Amino acid sequence: ASHNYTLGIDFGTSGARAVVIDSTGIVQAETKISMTSDALTQISTWENTLFSLIEQIPLKLRQQINAIAIDGTSSTVLLCNAVGTPVAPPLMYNDARGVTVLEQLKAIAPPNHTVLSATSSLAKLLWLSQQPTFTDAQYFLHQADWLAFLLHGKLGISDYHNALKLGYDVEYFCYPLWLTELAIAPLLPQVLAPGTVVATVTLEIATRFNLPRDCCVCAGTTDSIAAFLASGATFPGEAVTSLGSTMVLKLLSHTRVENNQYGVYSHRLGDLWLTGGASNTGGAVLQQFFSNTELQQLSFQIDPQQASPLDYYPLSKPGDRFPVNDPHLPPRLEPRPDNLVEFLHGLLESIARIEHQGYQLLQQLGATSLMRIYTAGGGAANITWTAIRQRYFGVPIVASKETEAAYGTALLAMRSINSNRN
Ligand code: ADP
Repeated sequence: ASHNYTLGIDFGTSGARAVVIDSTGIVQAETKISMTSDALTQISTWENTLFSLIEQIPLKLRQQINAIAIDGTSSTVLLCNAVGTPVAPPLMYNDARGVTVLEQLKAIAPPNHTVLSATSSLAKLLWLSQQPTFTDAQYFLHQADWLAFLLHGKLGISDYHNALKLGYDVEYFCYPLWLTELAIAPLLPQVLAPGTVVATVTLEIATRFNLPRDCCVCAGTTDSIAAFLASGATFPGEAVTSLGSTMVLKLLSHTRVENNQYGVYSHRLGDLWLTGGASNTGGAVLQQFFSNTELQQLSFQIDPQQASPLDYYPLSKPGDRFPVNDPHLPPRLEPRPDNLVEFLHGLLESIARIEHQGYQLLQQLGATSLMRIYTAGGGAANITWTAIRQRYFGVPIVASKETEAAYGTALLAMRSINSNRN
């Protein structure tokens, strides 16, 4: 019998992954390629990695993949010529050379706009437009857009998650006038809803990888939104806390919430808004004091029902933006008890308090009330921490169903294909 499998591909900051799911969302295959940050900046690596990921999927599955979607790191971008060949190396998500055009950008974009950052896609495009290589450029694309082009052969297509920091207006589904008036406007990609079918794979790709001739390639998304989709959160009020090196909160809301001061903004997610903020507190500070084994062993000795009296603001270096906006905020790690269990208790308790403050802030800014928290990242496995957090929140805290962005991207394509059929 023929199955309907969907392939999600994720290009993250440390490597790339592919996940094949069936129509019920069960994982059928997973492939992974790690890359150094150096290799990640090479366009030839992107292409080879994409093709190897697909090649590693068992042939039997590949022959029954009916849809593919790709996510990439937000604001990793490139310029290419009329046939899709990059005219210069890509600019990675954290490349801040756009800082030199920030003043220009401020004169063009409305105050406090999301594009007003040295690393935004638009700052990168503006910077690129002032380089000699620009003369050959025809298309400005995000990482996910260009990788999808390798599969479907269509240039100049993006999605509204990747295009948010390019200045695309997700409220009215168009580029704003201040953007379309610029000389760079002809390079801007056409923007589709994430998951929309763009085209079938090219004949060459179908033949090379034994994919069905009518296998669709869908508009993609960004890696962090893909990770949110993977969690299982779907309803307004559902949130995902990522307890990795830093702490990132995302809350699904009926209302759009924006606050530049705290770095809070919203992505569109169908009829809903995915709002959130990122704090510099998190696992990186824990790592300064404890090994992962120590974290586990010491956590077991903490009584999570007992509140720690220690009131820290754990940071590895001064400064935070959300939920406290102070670029000079000093790390607060005093008083420090001799007892390591008490010290760790204070750290976990304090990060939980900051998480609570973060969700309070999002709700004060107008987001839908918190109903449930999914947890991802290295801290998600710590049941003591979950119990401490539970004391702060009157809502269920559960582990994310899946944490791989590639899984979320596969879901995105699967749901889009299924809703087209029905
Ligand atoms: P990232 O991808 O942001 O680097 P991960 O999601 O891989 O981070 O999580 C790594 C972090 O998780 C580390 O900073 C580490 O301190 C933290 N971590 C690992 N194990 C535990 C644990 N048992 N309890 C709390 N934090 C942990």
